[in-house]
Amino acid sequence: MPVQLDSYLQGSWTVGEGDPVTLINPSTDAAVATIRPITRSLAEDVAWAREVGGTSLRAMSFAERGAMLQAMAKAMHEAREALIEVAIANGGNTRGDAKFDIDGATAVLSHYAYLAKDLGEKSWLIEGEAAEIFRGSKIRAEHILVPRRGLTIHINAFNFPAWGMIGKAAVALLAGVPVLSKPATSTAHLAHAIVALLVERKLLPEGAFSLLMGSAGDLLDHVGPQDVVAFTGSQGVGNKIKTHPAVIAQGARVNLETDSLNAAIIGPDVEAGTELFDLAVRDLAVEITQKAGQKCTATRRALVPEALVEALCESLFDRLDRTKIGEPSDKANRMGPLTSKAQHADALAGIEQLSADAEIIRGNPARRDGFEGVPAGSGCFLEPIVLQAKPGAATNPAAAFHNHEVFGPVLTLLPYDGELDTAAAIVAMGKGSLVSTVYTDDRTWLRRAVTEIGPHLGRIVIANEKSAGASMSPGCVFPVANHGGPGRAGGGEELGGLNGLGLYMQRVAVQGGASQLARLLGK
Ligand code: NAP
Repeated sequence: MPVQLDSYLQGSWTVGEGDPVTLINPSTDAAVATIRPITRSLAEDVAWAREVGGTSLRAMSFAERGAMLQAMAKAMHEAREALIEVAIANGGNTRGDAKFDIDGATAVLSHYAYLAKDLGEKSWLIEGEAAEIFRGSKIRAEHILVPRRGLTIHINAFNFPAWGMIGKAAVALLAGVPVLSKPATSTAHLAHAIVALLVERKLLPEGAFSLLMGSAGDLLDHVGPQDVVAFTGSQGVGNKIKTHPAVIAQGARVNLETDSLNAAIIGPDVEAGTELFDLAVRDLAVEITQKAGQKCTATRRALVPEALVEALCESLFDRLDRTKIGEPSDKANRMGPLTSKAQHADALAGIEQLSADAEIIRGNPARRDGFEGVPAGSGCFLEPIVLQAKPGAATNPAAAFHNHEVFGPVLTLLPYDGELDTAAAIVAMGKGSLVSTVYTDDRTWLRRAVTEIGPHLGRIVIANEKSAGASMSPGCVFPVANHGGPGRAGGGEELGGLNGLGLYMQRVAVQGGASQLARLLGK
C-alpha cells in the first residue's frame, strides 16, 4: 500500500487538498507513495516560517547552528540504511548512487558544522580589512555580512533528493535563515523521509525548516524583499521563477542552478595506454553511468583529438560493456533505471534531437529487455548511449549537442583538431556550464585553457599524469568548491565554503571612525 507523504508547515504535518499524485518505483512501475498537493494559499505558512524560524535561528550563535548541523549529519548517518532503501525504491538508485546522494548530504552538513567552529559566538561575518574612505582619512569602511530577515525558498530537482535539499539547507541554516524546501515531486519520498527523521529527533528549532510536498502552488506569490529563492532544475522553469511577478516586484534574491552541457577536454598530448588516458576513460564511464547520467555535473560532450577517437572508443565501450545494468537493489548492478516514465520519454526524445547532428556509435535507445533481474519491458531503463558528432558538426554552434541537455546516460564525442582555440570555442558553444575537465600534461596548453575556457564555467577540473591516481571524477561536487555556472547553467553560485553563506546574508558596508569600528567589530 503506497504511503501518503504530507507537507510539514507551521510546525505540523499537513495533508494537502489537491488530487493525489502517485510516486512510482522506476524499476518495477509499482506505486510507492502518494502526495496530496496543497492548493490553498500558502501565505500564512510563508509568513510563519519567516517570523518564527528567523527568530529561532538568529537567537543561536554560529557555533550553536553548527552543532545543529552536526547533529543532523549524525542522525542521517544513523538512518543511512533505511534512507538507502527509500532511494532505491523511489529513485531507482543503485546502492552506490543512493550513497552518493545521502553521503553527499551528510558531508555538506559536516563541512559547514566544521566551518562554524571558527565563527563562534559572532552575529556577523567580517569580509576583508577596513579601508580608509580616502587616503589620510580617519574614517574607515568595512564590509560585514548579517543574516537576511527573510525566508529562503528552496525548489529542488528530482535527481538529488537528499543532497539537493540538505546541501542548500545546511548553508542557509548556518547563515541563520529559515528554510522552506520544495522537493521535485517524482522522487520526493527520500526528502520526506529525511525531514521526518529530523522532526522526530527534534533537531530543528521551531520554524527553522518547512517542507512543501507536491507542486509549488502559490508559494512564490508570497515572497518578500528579504527572501531568497534558490532553485535547481531546468532552465525553462528557472526562467519562470526569475521572472515571477512577485519575485521581481519584491526584489527577492534569486539563485538559479540549471542545465549544463559539461565537457571533457582531452589535450593533444594525451596518448592511449597512459594513466591520464585511462583516467579520462574512467571519468567518462563514471559520468555516463552514475545515477544513470542524471547528474547536473555529468559530462555531456567529450572533446577528443581526432587521432585518439578510435582508441578512446575501444576503451570506453569496453568499460561500458562491463557495467551491469538492472534491478538497483542488487549490489552487482552498477546502473539503474531513469527515475520516471516522463524522464525516460524525455531522454529518448533528446537522443532523437541529438541524432540530427551525431550518429549513435554505441547503445540502442529502443532496448527494453536484458536488464539484470528486470522483466522485459518493465521499468524506465536506458542503456548508455554514445554518439559521435557528424563531420563538421562539432564546431557548429547550432548543433543539438551544444544546445540540448539530455538528462540521462548519454554522451556525445566531439572529434577536434587538438588546438586550444578550437576546444575553447566548442566549450563556449554550450553557453555556460557547471564544470569541465582538462586532461593534459602540457603546462602552456593548460594555462591558456584556464583563461580561455574558465569564463564559461563555474568549476574547472585539471588532471595530469602525475595527479591521475588521486583525481576524482568531475561530477563529484565538494562543499569547499563553488557550485554553479554562467549562462545556461543559471548564473548561480552555491557552496564554496564560507562564500556560500553570502547567498543568505546581506553585505553591509559599515562606515565610521577607525577605533569605533575596531571596537564594534571586535578587532
Ligand atoms: P524541473 O522540471 O525544472 O523541476 C525542478 C523543480 O521545479 C521541481 O521541484 C518542480 O516541481 C519545480 N517546478 C516546476 N515548475 C514550477 C513552477 N512553475 N514554479 C515553481 N516550481 C516549479 O527540473 P527536474 O526535471 O526536476 O530536474 C532536471 C533538471 O535539473 C535538469 O535540467 C538538470 O540539468 C537540472 N539540474 C541542475 C542542477 C544544478 O546544480 N545546476 C542540479 C540538478 C539538476 P515538480 O517536480 O513538482 O514539478
